[in-house]
Amino acid sequence: MSAIDDLPPLRSVIADHGLSAKKALGQNFLLDLNLTAKIARQAGDMSGCDVLEIGPGPGGLTRGLLAEGARRVLAVEKDARCLPALEQIAARYPGRLEIVQGDALDIDAAARLNAPVRVVANLPYNVGTELLVRWLTPRDWPPFWESLTLMFQREVAERIVARPGSKAYGRLALLAQWRADARIVMALPPGAFTPPPKIDSAVVHLTARATPRFEADPKVLERVVAMAFNQRRKMLRSALKGLGPDIEDRLRAAGIAPTERAEQVSLEGFCALAREVARG
Ligand code: SAM
Repeated sequence: MSAIDDLPPLRSVIADHGLSAKKALGQNFLLDLNLTAKIARQAGDMSGCDVLEIGPGPGGLTRGLLAEGARRVLAVEKDARCLPALEQIAARYPGRLEIVQGDALDIDAAARLNAPVRVVANLPYNVGTELLVRWLTPRDWPPFWESLTLMFQREVAERIVARPGSKAYGRLALLAQWRADARIVMALPPGAFTPPPKIDSAVVHLTARATPRFEADPKVLERVVAMAFNQRRKMLRSALKGLGPDIEDRLRAAGIAPTERAEQVSLEGFCALAREVARG
């Protein structure tokens, strides 16, 4: 018996259901329920919230979320082998756990959730960044979620919270910090997972801001930032040539020297440039 509920320990769950980890699905499981409960607590009080969990696997974090009082959890898992183990958790918490089998990239989870929504997940590494970018770049803001509490490779977590001038600064930092407040709240060594991955991990907590920090059209900002960091070593006047022949004038109008490189430009600078570009 584990400390947080009366369901079987995760090692027995994995053995009973034959859940040998599949690398292709990014399966590195958390088996310590005190640790999963601690990760769940990083999302704050969930008693009045629906929680979206991507990749519940054998259900360690799911159990943490439910034991910590989440009103309801919607868990999206691609691996059908995990469903019987998740059904056992659903039976232990009647009406509070809905399981959807499928690819998180294809499922419209927002349509199945009631506000307020928090997202908490130990993300599969192969789709983690893609999901984060989607959650950060809807056309309309505020988004369907009020916070994201997500496990990433530490290197990705550092890219999300990076400041201008650092090597990690780029597209992820700008997209995350434009419309959300992001910070790293936990660091986890490889040994916290079964099997242990080769890299360190970290949990990032992002809170959606009511309005973006600076005005900009999301599509234009994304395009400008992607182009600027695609050739991050180049001066912006050449990296952004594709935006038009008058790019030097536009950079100057945005308060950016055409000889600067992408990693030196602040979020405010990129938003000003996106507004200049959107002027047409
Ligand atoms: N939450 C569990 C834990 O903390 O022990 C498992 C985390 S494991 C890093 C990632 C999980 O995501 C696996 O269960 C894997 O099967 C699932 N997964 C991988 N790709 C997925 C996808 N595209 N959509 C939904 N789930 C996916």
